[in-house]
Formats: sequence, C-alpha cells, structure tokens
Amino acid sequence: MSAFTSSRYSAGAKWIHTNCSAPLENHFINVVDGVVDSVTAKPAQRTVFDFGSECQILPGTVNAHTHLELSGLPAPLDVPAVAGLRSMAAWIPPLMQFRRSELYNAENAVAAAFLRQEVLSESVAVADIVPLTLNIQNVPAPKIPVWLPFGELIAWKKEQVKEKMTEASRCRLTGVSPHAPQTVCPELLEAVIQRNVPVAMHLAESPEELELLQTGGGGALFGVMKNADPDYEPKNVLLGKRPLDYLQLLAHSPQAFIIHGNYLDDEELRFLAAHRETLSVVYCPRSHHYFGFQKYPLKKMLDFGVRVLLGTDSLASSPDLSIVNEMRFTLREHPEIPVETVFRFGTLDAAAAFGLNDRFGTIQAGRPARFAFLTGR
Ligand SMILES: [Zn+2]
Repeated sequence: MSAFTSSRYSAGAKWIHTNCSAPLENHFINVVDGVVDSVTAKPAQRTVFDFGSECQILPGTVNAHTHLELSGLPAPLDVPAVAGLRSMAAWIPPLMQFRRSELYNAENAVAAAFLRQEVLSESVAVADIVPLTLNIQNVPAPKIPVWLPFGELIAWKKEQVKEKMTEASRCRLTGVSPHAPQTVCPELLEAVIQRNVPVAMHLAESPEELELLQTGGGGALFGVMKNADPDYEPKNVLLGKRPLDYLQLLAHSPQAFIIHGNYLDDEELRFLAAHRETLSVVYCPRSHHYFGFQKYPLKKMLDFGVRVLLGTDSLASSPDLSIVNEMRFTLREHPEIPVETVFRFGTLDAAAAFGLNDRFGTIQAGRPARFAFLTGR
C-alpha cells in the first residue's frame, strides 16, 4: 500500500476477506509499520482510511501466469474472430512480428510492467514466463515483493535440447516453462523433469492444439510451425495424442502449473484432481474470453477437486495485468461459483501453490500489509 504514508493506520471496508475466517463485515485492518497488527470491529489507530460500503479488501493478489516481456503492446492483438472464435494460428504470426519489431524490448517491457498501477496496487507475486534471451541483470528490482520468472523453453528438435537447458541454468529462475505441445519435443520435456524444478506449460489451450495432437500433426497450427521451420516434423515433436500424455509426465515435477487447460476432458480433470498437491491449472479468464473459446469448465474442475489459480496472460490477449479484474470477470462469467472461492484462486490458493503462504495469501497479524481492493460488483 504505497499510497499510505502513515506508519500506523486502520483500513476499513464493507467486507474484509482475511482467508482465515468467514468474511468480516464493517471491520478494520490495523497496520503498524507495514505489518498487520490486528483486524477489529472498531479502528485501533487514529489515522483511518474507510473505503466504505462498496469496497471489499482482500489479501494482495498472486498472478499465476503472465508474459511481462509483451507489456510494450498497447492493446490485445487485433486478430479477426470468425464465428466468435479467434484462431491461435492467426494470432501467433502478428505476435512473432511484434517480437521482431523495434517496439519490442523485453527488459524495458518487464520494467514497465512492474510499474503499472494495477500491479503496484494489488500484487504480491507475479509468475512470469521470460524468454531465455532476457538479461535479468538489466531488469530493475521489482517494487512488488516477489517476481517468479520461469524461463521459456522452446525446442522441437532433440539436437537443440542440451543448449536450451544449459541456457536455462545460467539464469536465476524460479522454474522453467516448456512452451506448448507443438514447440517442445519429448527429449526437452524429459530433460525438464530431470531438472526437478517448478514447471509451467501451456496445455489444452485451443481446439487447434487438440486437432494437432489427435491427428498427429494436422490442422492450422502445423502450418504455423512449418512456416517457422520447413523441416518441422510432428512425429518427432508430439508426445502423444492428448493432453493427458503431457499431464502424466508433468506430474513427476515437484510443482507444475498447467496454463489454460481450456479443453481438458473429464479424465484429464480427474487426473489433475488426483495430483492436486503438485498440479495446478491456471485459468486466464479474459484471455480465454478474447479467443472466444468454449465455456471454461470451472465448475466441473471444482467439483472434481482440481486446484485452480488465476492468471492474466499477456497484454497480447488481455487488457491489463490485474487479478482483481480477473476475479471480477470470473464472478460474472461463473455466477454459480462462490465469491470466496474465486477470491482464493488469486490469493491463498496461488500463494500456497508457489510456496509463498508463509507470508502471503491471508490478512492476519504479523503478515505484510499488502492488500487488494475490489469496489462494486
Ligand atoms: Zn501464456
């Protein structure tokens, strides 16, 4: 709460969601020197910020998936939708074009993202896929408490694997991110598992990806890959016929984040639920909406017991980097899901999945005074 200059204050709101008890109505969080001292029905400090009847205060948010390197984009890519659906195969070429343009500078984009208003005002941690070319030393220290960089790994030929893994070990990374089924060969995935670090992978994102897997290399995504490399050979890249083949391998990593999972089937969701201690799915609501994918199986995931987190994805498919806005959007899209559950996706559940729940994810005495605010509904 950088706006609060006083070292002792009480912050009040209609609802305070501590994640330690049921929501507290008309309560105050009392803060001393940047640390929560207590939560009480009456303000304990003389300086009082009352956010009023429209406001809900939550613990600071954890963004479980983004690509800050793309934060130089002013708006999501302008790709036409056909019958309400945007094609990944149509979206990837302008993205690659942006990455090759003068407008793209990964270090500057990450630094600028750290200073965005919505990030500063609500985030305690951001899990970020970074290209291996990003020079972490050139990125200024983030003003948010925790930056979790995952090195992006792309190799569709086994000859590239050793070099990529060596590159990834040079940087100080939280984990690695084998990009997606069409861009990583089985040898790379095996090497990733052997490294025994947290993993984030895009999986079951689009119908085109499922088609590529099911047909062993058919559909529009194949065209994209063939354009990138005329020697692209699906049979040497694809691990299996369905996302489950990937999940079974990723389950061997100490912690794996399945990005999107828009098109996981029941068997795959049950597999995720059975491995919920180490496998989480990251729902990116507004990015999902941008592409116009089928309704997200959120209710089913929760019924099965899948651990769900929230991500914004990048500014190439999302209007901003606010998890509070993702929560708001999720509540509108999935009114059947309890509010408290949605709030936990982006706070306590995510903090636990990233091993940060000793500091973040709750509002309680002794924890840093980092909060997120949700006004209106
Ligand atoms: Zn992504």
